[in-house]
Amino acid sequence: MRVIERKRRPVERRRPPADAQPHPWGAGGAGEPPVFIDRGLAHQLSDEAAGAAARTEEALSLLVGDRFLDPATGSPYPVAMARATGPLVAGAARVRFDTGGFEAVARALDDVPFDYLVVGWFHSHVGLGCRPSAIDLATHRRFFRAPHQFALILDPVQRQAAAYTLAGAALAPRPLLVFGPPGNRP
Ligand SMILES: [Zn+2]
Repeated sequence: MRVIERKRRPVERRRPPADAQPHPWGAGGAGEPPVFIDRGLAHQLSDEAAGAAARTEEALSLLVGDRFLDPATGSPYPVAMARATGPLVAGAARVRFDTGGFEAVARALDDVPFDYLVVGWFHSHVGLGCRPSAIDLATHRRFFRAPHQFALILDPVQRQAAAYTLAGAALAPRPLLVFGPPGNRP
């Protein structure tokens, strides 16, 4: 598994996508940073969450993409472009990668056709809403501490979406925006 983040390549200054709109399942949150998701990926994740919910299971993926500096605010913001997942052990209220699943995730990351960063993680809740659990907070604090990393939670039953970043020791909801052409479905 290549850990591109360790290269610490310079952060590019780039204006946030001009056509970004709130996620159709709700934008939620305020403050910095806003979180941007490619529209095709957003559809893919919603479908994945709905498919898992039909089996009374949660879905789980790593989100990869990039982070940029907003020239207007000087603040970094993440952009998710693709996902990487592997075999899961999933139930109605918890999910984790299967034993050996991280190897599959690493292979999936190698298939991502660009120089990526892990910008966060996605998982779904089955009808419970999008509030992060204590386990979600612990997972985030353990693996996703970088300022550009966020947690995306979808509830396909209630059709709710929320993104969070670390604020001190807690997860704070952030604006969740989708960008790209409307017909951009995989
Ligand atoms: Zn959760």
